[in-house]
Amino acid sequence: MQEKPRKTFAIISHPDAGKTTLTEKVLLLGGGIRSAGTVKGKKSGKYATSDWMDIEKQRGISVTSSVMQLNYDDTQINILDTPGHQDFSEDTYRTLTAVDTAVMVIDCVKGIEAQTLKLFKVCRMRGIPILTFINKLDREGKEPLDLLEEIEETLDMETYPMNWPIGMGKRLKGIYSIPDDTVEIFNEDHERKVVPLKEAHMLEDYEKDALEEDTMLLEEAGNEFSAEKVKNGQMTPVFFGSALANFGVQSFLDQFVDLAAPPQPRKASGEFVSPESNDFSGFVFKIQANMNPNHRDRIAFLRVCSGSFDRGMEVKHSRTGKKMKLNQSHSFFASDRETVETAMPGDIVGLYDSGNFQVGDTLCTGQKLIQYEEMPQFPPEKFAKVTAKNALKHKQYHKGMQQLVQEGTIQLYKTPYFEDYIIGAVGELQFQVFEYRMKNEYNVDIEFAHMSHELARWVTKGHVDESMTDSRKMLVLDQQKRPVLLFENEFSLRWFQDKNPDVELATGWDIL
Ligand code: GDP
Repeated sequence: MQEKPRKTFAIISHPDAGKTTLTEKVLLLGGGIRSAGTVKGKKSGKYATSDWMDIEKQRGISVTSSVMQLNYDDTQINILDTPGHQDFSEDTYRTLTAVDTAVMVIDCVKGIEAQTLKLFKVCRMRGIPILTFINKLDREGKEPLDLLEEIEETLDMETYPMNWPIGMGKRLKGIYSIPDDTVEIFNEDHERKVVPLKEAHMLEDYEKDALEEDTMLLEEAGNEFSAEKVKNGQMTPVFFGSALANFGVQSFLDQFVDLAAPPQPRKASGEFVSPESNDFSGFVFKIQANMNPNHRDRIAFLRVCSGSFDRGMEVKHSRTGKKMKLNQSHSFFASDRETVETAMPGDIVGLYDSGNFQVGDTLCTGQKLIQYEEMPQFPPEKFAKVTAKNALKHKQYHKGMQQLVQEGTIQLYKTPYFEDYIIGAVGELQFQVFEYRMKNEYNVDIEFAHMSHELARWVTKGHVDESMTDSRKMLVLDQQKRPVLLFENEFSLRWFQDKNPDVELATGWDIL
């Protein structure tokens, strides 16, 4: 049987831009939904089906990314959830290493916001296609042309509008599809109605004139469509719509199926591995621990990159060279833990893990052991000094710390000489998960002293020493013993740079 093509994507957005609403609407459009229930518990009053973790239940949110599948237009679409709000963590970033396309959702009132920008950087680093959905068109937002300019300038990326709004907010009449010369009419009962522009009699003359003016301007001053640029993430196709009103979502999805990238060759051990290769390969992009003390099992999330995955197959674990049989493979649909029998490149498989896997591990078959490129370490923005409450537990404390750092739960830094432990994270949630697991798995109570530092800069050139540590900055060493300066804020960073012009600093992004 011919396998359906795969399109695997994640949404990058700032909290409240409409990611959840858009995801729900997209899922409704696809037949045969298998949803992991990412609908946030807080709002619906129900818990997500993926709440394996106590902590998730307590907070009523979905802590770690789950994956949804839908079939649309003979394509299997895999949606990887990227937790936003308080549950933003390194896993959110790591998820973006496992997708082939990103969909950027922007609130038309607010434009590009901080978290979108951070997530965008990961996509830029990977050069994957980015499709933009400008949401909340039923609200009075920024001018469409200004929004395009904002994307171009802030993200250094060309835009290509696929449709164009006719009015906005209370004046919203419809969206004009540029390639089809049709208008999708906005109506209160959310029924989809698409007519050729010529037959859009409900438009007033001034609305038609404004549309003509805008489209002429786009034709003259806008960019020319380039499939190559879209593929490389240098140009983003832009769609306007309203997720809440289910307006423009279907036309977005129709185009998405064409524009989104299929699984691409990925670099492993210096060579590109084609998804069509007969040998199976994949990499672990996150590990989710079960917070239930009765079920200690962890789930390693594996992105299949080449060949096909079959339950029970024997694979090699590249980091250790060990052979292992994958007979306990599961899809991550947590409620029923449906067993995955086969999976194709682009798919995600959840594997039971009793401590064998680390984030970034490669599994493969074939003659040669290959290793997918190392998972980047993302620049942390939150730091805390940690100690064990009970000094007698130092053995478990060090063991737990080492294990959790290796697994990728948290980043660890040490001060020179005294070797105090400083942990770093991109989101507060990672601290909570770390504390919880140290207590439940290693029986160690942790003492945290949250630090006010927010910026980490790797020292790439010049001399630094501990005398530079003061109330505003601190010198630490990362796991590879590279010197890193932690700063309180942009101001203390600039101050330091002015005083120490010989010291070159890099953000994590530059070197990781
Ligand atoms: P997320 O945090 O990005 O997942 O955002 P949600 O999907 O939870 O949406 C945040 C809020 O914006 C909710 O109250 C939604 O109902 C609302 N919202 C989402 N899409 C639209 C839209 O198209 N128009 C309007 N007016 N509100 C929307």
